[in-house]
Amino acid sequence: MSYSTIEKYCSKRSVSLVAVSKTKPAAAITEMYAKGQRVFGENKVQELVDKQAKLPEDIDWHFIGHLQRNKVKHIAAFISLIHSVDSEKLIQEINKQGAKVNRIIPVLLQFYIASEESKFGLDWSEAEKLLDNKAAFANVQICGVMGMASFTSDEVQVRQEFGKLKKVFEKINAKYFPNEPSFKTISMGMSGDYEIAIEEGSNMVRIGSLLFGARNY
Ligand SMILES: *Cc1c(COP(=O)(O)O)cnc(C)c1O
Repeated sequence: MSYSTIEKYCSKRSVSLVAVSKTKPAAAITEMYAKGQRVFGENKVQELVDKQAKLPEDIDWHFIGHLQRNKVKHIAAFISLIHSVDSEKLIQEINKQGAKVNRIIPVLLQFYIASEESKFGLDWSEAEKLLDNKAAFANVQICGVMGMASFTSDEVQVRQEFGKLKKVFEKINAKYFPNEPSFKTISMGMSGDYEIAIEEGSNMVRIGSLLFGARNY
């Protein structure tokens, strides 16, 4: 599908589009940048650092993969949004590195919504524990939630899982961020399920293969 088709689909619904460029060469990003895209998502620190160094400075880089604590320091100075906070230890480290570079780093809390065992993410009680302690993280801005649905063709299940994340967002918003407009992001939906995700309340989709073609690892 073409970039402009997806871009139009999203902007009509006020959904932001993260172009997931992982494994793709810098030239593929440059091509999409020329069409107007500024937000790109990567899931490997080294790959992100290499691309950031050689691509235009006004790109907003989002980190969307599992983030190891010892690698936060490599991206702290420039990252626009980390989607994948899945432990209190990780947010502590992001806070520490944010302080070092004098930034408030925007993050999302990643929730475990799929039925598959392998997915990373917080459950509700872990999230509460982290959020009860949020005043300790002055160099982090918690902007919303992120989740991945199960990899299945069962549309009913996918819809249910996205619905679950929307409810988690609302619960956190009411309990921890009332009247805080910066808590606003629901990052859900990928190439195979972004339409369902948007119907279920997503306002940020992360789309890779549909934009760049299939990845060969
Ligand atoms: C790779 C990836 C995507 C994009 O996947 P596509 O199916 O290619 O759109 C989105 N989110 C995360 C967390 C990913 O790792």
